[in-house]
This record gives sequence, structure tokens and C-alpha cells, in this order.
Amino acid sequence: MKLTRLLSLSTAVLALLVCGMLGHITRNAWLRYDATGSGLQALRLTHAAMVAAEKLSFERGPVNAVLGERFTADPARRERLQRGRAATDLALMQLERELLADDGMTRQTVLAPLRAALDTARHSVDQLAAVPPAERTPEQLKQAIEQMFGLVPLALDAAASYTQASELAYPRITRALIKARYAVELREYAGRLGSLLTVPLTTRQPLTPAEYTRLQMLRGRIAQLRQQVQATDSGGNLAIVTQRVDDIYFGEGLQLVTDIEQASRAGRAYDLDTAQLAQRYVPTMTPILALRDELLQEAQTQAQNDHEHARRELWIATLSGIAILLSLTLLLLIVRRRVIVPLLRATRAVIRLGNGDYSRDSGGSQRADEIGDMLRALATLRTNSIERQQLELERQSLIDELRLRANTDYLTGILNRRAFVAASNQRLQRARDCRETLAVLLFDIDHFKAVNDAHGHEAGDQVLIRVAALVRDELRDGEILARHGGEEFVVMPAYCQLEQACALAERLRLAIASVPLTLADGQLLRVTASFGVASATGPAAALDDLLHAADLALYSAKRKGRNRVESAA
Ligand code: GH3
Ligand code: MG
Ligand code: MG
Repeated sequence: MKLTRLLSLSTAVLALLVCGMLGHITRNAWLRYDATGSGLQALRLTHAAMVAAEKLSFERGPVNAVLGERFTADPARRERLQRGRAATDLALMQLERELLADDGMTRQTVLAPLRAALDTARHSVDQLAAVPPAERTPEQLKQAIEQMFGLVPLALDAAASYTQASELAYPRITRALIKARYAVELREYAGRLGSLLTVPLTTRQPLTPAEYTRLQMLRGRIAQLRQQVQATDSGGNLAIVTQRVDDIYFGEGLQLVTDIEQASRAGRAYDLDTAQLAQRYVPTMTPILALRDELLQEAQTQAQNDHEHARRELWIATLSGIAILLSLTLLLLIVRRRVIVPLLRATRAVIRLGNGDYSRDSGGSQRADEIGDMLRALATLRTNSIERQQLELERQSLIDELRLRANTDYLTGILNRRAFVAASNQRLQRARDCRETLAVLLFDIDHFKAVNDAHGHEAGDQVLIRVAALVRDELRDGEILARHGGEEFVVMPAYCQLEQACALAERLRLAIASVPLTLADGQLLRVTASFGVASATGPAAALDDLLHAADLALYSAKRKGRNRVESAA
């Protein structure tokens, strides 16, 4: 796999893994943040529902007072009832608003039964309040108050369902919420205990056996709830508020109930009426609500802190995720720019060097890192290779020149005898193998000694050069010309018969004889040459034999008067 592809692939895999991991971390942080947010919202709803339950409990106080009127309707008590109702309506409106903010659909299902029951209960109370006090029977009073009792569980149901929602979304507030719920219940049962005394106080009758039993049951339940809301390890405000509940409600409030119960059992007249009971008993229940609020506040603070914490965690997760992705991208870009790309360039440079192409420098040699070292090494390799190539070229040209000199006659520039022997032996081999006929022409300049003597050795050399050039111009490709020694030359035509070789010799003889040679000093000189021709065919062809036969023919030509061609018989 190519390095670039490997890098792209590993980058993609790495990016996927990192994105997956970061996504997981960020999702968890988001879920925590969302859960604490839902916890907070559910807490607000719970609080609103609990306040509504509390106001419904409160409303029973003025109801008891109005229904417990002894002789005539008391406007002050009616007004207190109106205020109580207004407070309940306000609390329900606030609960409705919280529900709407949370989820518009829930409002109908949660509050509709409560509203319907509230309307019915209030209608019953109003009907009974219109009847003169003396005509109100205990059964009617009991029925109207029972209807009012039925309202609180409905509101508490709404609270309970949201308490459960809060606990599910955010379990850390469970302990405080359960305690708050017990506090609300405690307030409710405390209220019921007060209401239980309304009928005996109104009718000025001792409690019935059924009422005693109910009183004991309520006391028992209240004692249980007292245990549940008892402060455990929590100090601070909560401990103070719990202590206040102990002192004020369980001290003063329950004492009032005990006094009335004792008066009833002793058959004494009560020293207070329902309104006075309400006036003294109701305030003793206030610390229970303070305890409820403190517990809710504790849960709220806890949720708020955790919400803040979750928000910070979410930010940290998101920002560090972005930072990690950016660093990874940067790192990969740097690796690509500083390692992969230079490596690819270096690879191409090495391939070029291997192919003997030294035309381009690989560059980057000014870098201070390991890649720079490698590129510098490549640059040195290139310089050395260029030098070696030049040395090789020089060596080759020297060898070529030496070979040329070894094969060339220094004076005339044509082949020397050694080169002629090598070249002609190849042809003879083929002539032997293929049964071809091969001929040799030997020619010697006539009276050359006289030229030397008459014009000097220099001029003799000029004549040798001119004759060689003249003959070379006359010859065609494939016809070999060499200096055989002194003023004697040898020609080997391509494969041909003796007659054709003689014809060539005749042509050359005429050319030499007819063309006057111009010497360096401008003198014109005519020379002639004598030719001896010999040929051989097939296996019998040998160079020495051929040359010897041609030499004999040349000797014959000399003898016969020179400037002529003789062939071997
Ligand atoms: P013939 O017609 O019988 O060949 O007579 P010739 O004078 O040409 O023959 P000879 O063998 O008597 O003389 C050859 C001369 O050629 C002798 C020698 O000094 C001269 N010679 C040989 N090689 C060279 C050379 O390279 N340069 C010069 N200038 N003269 C040379
Ligand atoms: Mg001669
Ligand atoms: Mg000679």
C-alpha cells in the first residue's frame, strides 16, 4: 500500500475513533446536563404542586370557621374564606403556568379532576354557609369538610407524579424530595387533626367514640411522619427548621389538641371555639411548611450546583473535543507536509538518480531535521554521481581515442595494418562459412624514393596523405582501405570476384595517375601506383595467402613497367 494512501486510511480511522470517543463523552456530558435541567424543572413543578396542596389545606381553616359559626353569619370569617380561596386559586394558577412551561398537554389531565372536585366542594360549602348556623346538621358539616379533604390528595397526586419524574431524571434529589413529601403529608394530617375538632367545638359536644378512634389514628400517622422528617446527619438550616417543627407544632400545636381531648373526656366545656382553635392551631403548622421549603430548597441548591457542574463539564468536553480534533488535523497536516511529501519527493529523486537522471535537485537541504539530513545526503549523492558520470565520460572518450589511435595510421588517418588485419579476418571468416569470394588489392607508389629525394621527406608525407585521401574518396561503403606500410596501401572490396576487383584497381590507378597532387608549398605533383590483385573463395581463403598472392602480382606489375594492374594467376 502506498504511503499516502496508508496515511489517508489511518487518518480516516483515527478521526473516526476520536470522533466516536468525543461524541460519546460529549453525549454523556449533554445527558447529564439535560437530566439536571429536567430535575430543576421538575423541582419547580413539585414545589408549585406542593404549594397548591398547602393552600388547599389552608382553605379548610376558614371553611371550618365559616361552617362553625354559632349564631349568625360572621362577615370577618367570610372574608377570611374569600382570602383563603384567592390564595388557592393563585397557587393553582402558578402550578398551571409551570405545567404549561413544561408541557402544555399535561395541564388538562393533571389539573382537570382537581378543578372539578374543588368547584363541587366550594359549591357545597357555599350552600351550607347560606343556611342559618342553627339549622346546619353535623352530617352536613362533616360532608362538606370531607369534600374539602378530598382535594388535597388530588393536588398531592400531581406533586407525586412530578416528584417521581424528578427522581427518575435526577436521582440525587430523591432523599430530599421524599422528606419534602412527608413534610407535606405531615402538614395535611396536622390540618386534618385540627379539622377533626371542628364539629365537636361547633356543636359544643364531647367527641364521639368514632372521633376518638380517628383522633388516635391521626396522632399515630403524625408520629410516624415525625420520624420520617426528622433531621439525620444534615446540619445547618435544616436542623434548625426541624427543631422548630418539634418545638412549635409537636410542642404547642399538639398540646392544644391534647387539651381539647382531655376536656372532652372530662365532660368539661371547651375554653375555645373553632375560630380560636384555628387562630392558635394553624400558626403552629407553619414551621412544617418551612421544613418542606427548606428540603425543596436543599434539593434545588443541589440540582442547581450539579446543573452548573454538568454545564461546565459539557463545555470542557466540547472545547477539548474541538481542541483534540484541531490538534489531530494540525498534526496530520504537519506530518504530511514535513514527512510524507518530502519522503515522496526524495523517493522520486532516488528513482531519478537510479535511472541516471541528475538534472533536478531534490531540494529542502536547508531543513534542520532528519528529513533535511536525508535530502542533504541525496544532494551529495547527486553531486558525486554527476562527477562520476563526467569522469566516466572522460574515461570513455579517452578509451575511444586510444582505440582510434590504435587502429589508425598516424600520418594518413586511414586504418593501419593492425586494424586491417582485424577487419579483414572477419570478412574472411564469413567468406569461408558462406563460400563467398573475397579479393585484396595491394598498391605501391612508383618511384617514391625519388619524390622524397627530389622534394624532401615532408613532401613525401604530403603525397602519402593526398593519395590516401584520393583513394578513400573513390571507394564506397564496405570497401576497406589501410596503409600496409611505407608507401604501400591495401584495399579489400566487399565480396566480389577477381574481375570486379581488377576493375576497381584499374579505376583507382587511373584516379591516382590523372589527378595532380598539390603540395603544401603549392607545387603540383603527379604520381602513379602499381596494383597487384588476388582473390580466394570458400575454405581456402586465408589472409596471409591472399596478401602474398597480391604482393606477387604487385611485384609483377612493377616489373612490367609500373602504373599498371596485375592479378594473381
Ligand atoms: P619502386 O617504384 O620500385 O617502388 O621504387 P621506390 O623508390 O618507390 O621504392 P623503394 O623501396 O626503393 O623506396 C621506398 C622509399 O619510400 C624509401 C623510403 O624512404 C620511403 N618511405 C617509406 N616510408 C615513408 C614515409 O613514411 N615518408 C616518406 N617521406 N618516405 C617514406
Ligand atoms: Mg614504391
Ligand atoms: Mg615499396
